[in-house]
Amino acid sequence: MSFILQGIGVSEGIAIGHAHLAAPAALEVMHYLISKSQVEKEIARLDNAFAVVRQEFEALQKSVTDGHARAEFSAFLDLHLMILDDPMLSEATHSTIAQTLCNAEWALTQQMQELLAQFEQIEDAYLRERKADVVQVVERVLKAMLGYPRHLPVATKLTGDSILVAHDLSPADVMQYKQHQFTAFLTDLGSQTSHTAIVARSLNIPSVVALHYAHQLILENDALIVDGTHGVIIVNPDKYVLDEYRLRQEQLELEKQKLKRLKSIAAVTLDGTPVDLYANIELPEDIEQVKESGATGIGLFRSEFLFLNRNDLPGEDEQFEAYRTVAVKMHKQPVTIRTFDLGADKSLRGAVQVAANPALGLRAIRLSLAEPRMFHIQLRAILRASKFGDVRILIPMLSNVSEIEQTLNHIEYAKQTLRDDDIRFDEHIKVGGMIEIPAAALSLDTLMRKLDFLSIGTNDLIQYTLAVDRIDDTVAHLYDPFHPAILWLISHVIQSANRAKIPVSLCGEMAGDKQFTRLLLGIGLQQFSMYPAQLLTVKNQILKSHLPDIVPLVNKIIKADHPQKMATLLTKLND
Ligand code: PEP
Ligand code: MG
Repeated sequence: MSFILQGIGVSEGIAIGHAHLAAPAALEVMHYLISKSQVEKEIARLDNAFAVVRQEFEALQKSVTDGHARAEFSAFLDLHLMILDDPMLSEATHSTIAQTLCNAEWALTQQMQELLAQFEQIEDAYLRERKADVVQVVERVLKAMLGYPRHLPVATKLTGDSILVAHDLSPADVMQYKQHQFTAFLTDLGSQTSHTAIVARSLNIPSVVALHYAHQLILENDALIVDGTHGVIIVNPDKYVLDEYRLRQEQLELEKQKLKRLKSIAAVTLDGTPVDLYANIELPEDIEQVKESGATGIGLFRSEFLFLNRNDLPGEDEQFEAYRTVAVKMHKQPVTIRTFDLGADKSLRGAVQVAANPALGLRAIRLSLAEPRMFHIQLRAILRASKFGDVRILIPMLSNVSEIEQTLNHIEYAKQTLRDDDIRFDEHIKVGGMIEIPAAALSLDTLMRKLDFLSIGTNDLIQYTLAVDRIDDTVAHLYDPFHPAILWLISHVIQSANRAKIPVSLCGEMAGDKQFTRLLLGIGLQQFSMYPAQLLTVKNQILKSHLPDIVPLVNKIIKADHPQKMATLLTKLND
C-alpha cells in the first residue's frame, strides 16, 4: 500500500531506496505467563541478552579508542554500560519474573517504567533527561532477546540504497551508522538541532525527522522516496511517482554538479557588491568539507562540541590543538571561535546543574562567567591558537553590556598570564558578540561600542523573540523566521552595525537557506555563515542578484502588514 508521511525536513535532497529499520518498536512487547519451572530459563534468557549487549557496547568502545570514531561517544557508551550493569535494572527484573511469572521482555519493560517514574521525581533536569538513555539501553536488550539484528548490516550487505528508519537515534547508533553508507535518515523524534539533523546535514544526505509513527508504519525493505527539502516520505510509491522523483533527483544531481563550478568564483552581486561566505563547523574534522565548499573563512566554530559526550573537560592543550589545527588549515582566513555555548540543549555531563528552564538559564556566556576556571582555560587555548592564523573570539548569548565588560576582563587576564609565561599570541585579537537575545538587539548601540564585530544567531533570536522552543516539534509551526518582529530585529541589527561600520554576519540557519538570501542582501547583510553543504547554493543566488532591484522590494516586505502580501512580495523577490 502506498502512503505519505510528513515530518520536518532537516537536510535537503531526494533519496530513493529501501527501508532499513534500525530498531524495532521495542516497547511493544508481548505479555505472557510462564510456569514456575520456566523461571530459571527465562532469567537465563534475560541474562544472556544483557551479556550480548554488554559485548556490543564493549566492542563499540574499543572501536572508539582505536580512533575509528569520535572520542566524544565513548562517554555515552560508559553511561550506557553503567545503566546496563545497574542492579535496579537486571536484578529487579529477575525478581519480577520470579514473583509475577511473566516473560522476561514484559518484566524488563515493567522495570523500565518503574525506573522512568523514579527519574520523573528527580529535580535535577540533567539527571531527569537521562531517562532517554535508560530507554535506549532497554531497547537494545529487548532487541537482543527478540532476535532482531543487533548490528547494523555492514556496508557490503546493504543494497547501496538503504534508508535508515529509526524511532530515535542514540549517540552510539549515530556512531555506528556514520560508518555505513545510508542514503537518507528518518526518525520519529527529533528536531532541526537533534543529533540526526546535525549528522545528516554534515554528511549532506537527505533527512526527515519528527515523523512520529514512521517507525511503526514503515516495514523493513519498503520502497521509499525521501524528500528532505519538503520533509515528505512516500512509502511504496507507484511507478509514476517513482519516475517523477527519479527525474527530480537527476535534476538535483545535475544542479549540484553545476554548482561545483562556482567553488572558486568570488561571491559578488550583479552590481558588484562583494559578499563573504563563511562556514559553520563543530569539530576540526569538518574543515575538509569547508575546503570543498570554497568558504573563505569560519564564521562560527561551535567550540562546545569539544566538551560534549564525555565525562571530563578538554584541557588547555587539547583545545589549543583543535583551534590551532583549524587556524592553520584555513591559511590566515578568518576563524571565528565561539566560546562554549553549553547549558541548554548542549549540557555538560554531571559537572553543571541545569535549571528547570535551561534555554533561559545558565547557558553560554552566563555559564562561562559562572565557571571562570573553565572559561580561563578556553580563553588561553584560543589566544595561543591566534598566533597561527586570523583567529577571533565570539561571545554567545549576550544580553547586557556588563557581560561584555566581564568577558573583556577575562580575556585581558588570560593575555596577561600568557605574557607571564612568555607565550605569544595575537595582542589585537578581535572580540565579537552574538546577537541572539531580543534585549541585545534592542540595546545594540551600547553593546556595539565594546565589540569589534557582531554575529546574528537567528536560531535563538527566533526562539527567544517568539517564545518558541526551537527543539520542540510540537510548536515548530510557530517558529517563523518571516514574523514581522524577526525581520524588524534582523534589519535593525544589520543596518545599525552598517551605520556604525562594525562588521556583522549572520550564522543561524537562515544564512544557509536560499529563500532568505535576497531578503538578507536587501537588508544590507554582506557576511553569511552556514553549513558547507549549503554554501554554493547561496553563492549561486548571490551571483544572480542585483541589489538596486532588490532593496525597494525588501523594504516593502519588511513593512508588509499582511502575511499574504508578504508572501506575494517574497515570491517576486526570489523569482
Ligand atoms: C543561533 O542561535 O542562531 C546560532 C548560530 O547558534 P546555535 O544554533 O549554536 O545556538
Ligand atoms: Mg545560538
